[in-house]
Amino acid sequence: MDTTRVSPNFLRSEFACQCGCGFDTVDVSTIEVVQAVRDHFGVPVTINSGCRCPEHNRAVGGAEHSQHVLARAADIAVRGVSPDTVHDWIAEQYPSASLGRYRTFTHVDTRTGGPARWDNR
Ligand SMILES: [Zn+2]
Ligand SMILES: [Zn+2]
Repeated sequence: MDTTRVSPNFLRSEFACQCGCGFDTVDVSTIEVVQAVRDHFGVPVTINSGCRCPEHNRAVGGAEHSQHVLARAADIAVRGVSPDTVHDWIAEQYPSASLGRYRTFTHVDTRTGGPARWDNR
């Protein structure tokens, strides 16, 4: 487990694939957005899902061409802040970021050719 700090508040291990395969190479632009969220709201941000190897992505029912597999996505939950509020703040600050609304977290990625936006609540 690589506990190197990738930004002021996040460790590489927090973005690692949860199957234990060791895939943990997360895109710097995605880290930048997640750190900005942490800075703005000033409370802990949990990475529910970061990198996913193809096998783990299938296991959790991820989209076939999921940005998680390309290490450009993070599903984040901000303590005490609604996913809608998080979504709307990122959309305003990072118009080119791709965002998905979910009931308990916000998906953010920095794909090429974005932004994509969807509502899965
Ligand atoms: Zn994996
Ligand atoms: Zn996601």
